[in-house]
Amino acid sequence: MAGRPVLVVAAHPDDEILGCGGTAARLVQENREVYFAILGEGITSRHENREAADPERSSLLHRHARAAAATVGVKDVFLYKLPDNRLDTVPLLQVVKMVEDVIEKLKPETIYTHHPGDLNVDHGVIHRAVLTATRPTAGQSVHEIYAFEVPSSTDWAFGSLQPVFRPNVFVDVAATLEAKIAAMACYQTEMREFPHPRSPEALRAVAARWGSVVGCHAAEAFELVRSVRPRR
Ligand SMILES: [Zn+2]
Repeated sequence: MAGRPVLVVAAHPDDEILGCGGTAARLVQENREVYFAILGEGITSRHENREAADPERSSLLHRHARAAAATVGVKDVFLYKLPDNRLDTVPLLQVVKMVEDVIEKLKPETIYTHHPGDLNVDHGVIHRAVLTATRPTAGQSVHEIYAFEVPSSTDWAFGSLQPVFRPNVFVDVAATLEAKIAAMACYQTEMREFPHPRSPEALRAVAARWGSVVGCHAAEAFELVRSVRPRR
């Protein structure tokens, strides 16, 4: 049984790979249908210049996002252009509606999304929007929600933003870690040199660290937000 679709809901292009690229690639190998939804344009905050987003850069990032998605083998990627680093100025209802529309289309069983304690405000907004869009009422297709970490944004909260990321679900990604690194390489403008957290060396180190916690060579770490086991 292949299981129903898995949806990854991210704020910015590259968060989906940083957060769960190895797990997404593994799920694809296990014949699950995986989809990415990336709600923000992801331009200004990462590039000192915070002026209005350049549409050319935005479409370049979207091209990178499609290439990254293809690298891990996801079925499709839904790209939106909410304003970067200002999602808290967009009515939450608008963000919720976007997530609801994707859920309506795909009827996913599992969602991977941001942790609310990240330094980047957009990540918290996306987390909240997912929780709102997936209220566990009768007929809700989403039964499991996991929060991922985003190397840099999760670490740079230094535990001073609540809640703190407390991973309790670990996925062995030893076989797909290099697919994650290759997918990140598609984001030519977002990758950095070591020791930046968005460098291949740092991503391998994070995976090795979580792997060592749970007895495997490489792992991605998640915090279970909610799990409901309905009657089949
Ligand atoms: Zn982000």
